[in-house]
Amino acid sequence: MSATPLRPETLAVHAGWRADPSTGSVAVPIHQTTSYQFRDTEHASALFALQELGNVYTRIMNPTTDVLEKRIAALEGGAAALAVASGQAASAYSVQNLARAGDNIVSSTDLYGGTWNLFANTLRDQGIEVRFVDPADPESFRRATDDRTRAYYAETLPNPKLQVFPIAEVAAIGRAFGVPLIMDNTAAPLLCRPFDHGAAIIVYSATKYLGGHGTSIGGLIVDGGNFDWEAAGERQPLLNTPDKSYHGAVWSEAAKPLGPIAYILRARVVALRDLGAAMSPFNAFQIIQGVETVALRIERHCANAQAVTDYLADRKGVTRVIHPSQQTGTARTRADTYLKGGYGGLVGFELEGGVEAGRRFIDALQLFYHVANIGDARSLAIHPASTTHSQLTPEEQAATGVSPGYVRLSVGIEHIDDIIADLEQALAAALG
Ligand code: PLP
Repeated sequence: MSATPLRPETLAVHAGWRADPSTGSVAVPIHQTTSYQFRDTEHASALFALQELGNVYTRIMNPTTDVLEKRIAALEGGAAALAVASGQAASAYSVQNLARAGDNIVSSTDLYGGTWNLFANTLRDQGIEVRFVDPADPESFRRATDDRTRAYYAETLPNPKLQVFPIAEVAAIGRAFGVPLIMDNTAAPLLCRPFDHGAAIIVYSATKYLGGHGTSIGGLIVDGGNFDWEAAGERQPLLNTPDKSYHGAVWSEAAKPLGPIAYILRARVVALRDLGAAMSPFNAFQIIQGVETVALRIERHCANAQAVTDYLADRKGVTRVIHPSQQTGTARTRADTYLKGGYGGLVGFELEGGVEAGRRFIDALQLFYHVANIGDARSLAIHPASTTHSQLTPEEQAATGVSPGYVRLSVGIEHIDDIIADLEQALAAALG
């Protein structure tokens, strides 16, 4: 192969795998095993002491999952990755790998609802405070930082607002403190490479665009290998002080012979070992199949979402369309800085007629599925005011960017004429 680094489209098909050395199998085999026989006691000792990296037990590593991890690390330009059972597990571990009771992180307010609950309730109950700040103002991260702040957290393209996060600005603020920026890039694979803008860690719900077919729940954490944990010193005690759960290992030291992977090594051999949300090899296989076509699908998702936006923007009875192409000023500049090749597959819009119009629209859909998921090859729709946000007051809904007539579309890869025809007939039913 040429000396030029492979492009993301090629890495998505090839990275981390060639053919099975023993069978020649071109497709990645599903290694449906819990355990791996050690060659002898010396080999076993070396593995347990981390003097050699190798397979021990599928809760911690698996050869099928390993291909997925290598592929995503390559795609993101990172040092190494860890697959886990869900996007939720990825978000939780990404924080728990740095913060413990008494510590805090600073997070954007614009988050997936599941992450919001994890941060506002579950992590708080575990003693990790999450300080929520307005992502429109990068300086709010600096103001919320104190000497117990261990990480910043945000989503690249959060819905429902679909306002792109100022990655470089906030990453730079964090780096001056020794605080890494964790980016959830679920909605923008290939469109955005957060490490290129200074993020230190990326998390994914692989359930969405990476898997792409709505079959398998999964999550990934990627270590950029671009953060100097040792230099962060006391700011990052979990990586710089002896870990009594692992023979007193100091992770920033112990990882040195293996590469710049202290963070992800600890996530694997401590967080995943102890908390146990491992990805099944079968799901890793399914997600690998998805990743092989993600570049093509994302192109089509973006083109279709843009066409849907343009259609809705002209439609009577639609009072607002939420999509980066409709934004102006700083929000638009950020979208154009951080997203390359399209604005993603999500579109929001507000219907005249509020909650009832939203319900009628959803009930009339024939091609779109009515589900809470995003990132499937199929077109999907949800009306937050009658589902995910129905327990919130109208004021709380408004704070998250949701109005009574708000509908979220995850535009699929079907023929655009069929997508628009379904929207047209459902709008007619909703608006009369
Ligand atoms: N992050 C984002 C942006 C999501 O949309 C989701 C799920 O909707 C998650 C994380 C959680 O992922 P999972 O459902 O795979 O646990």
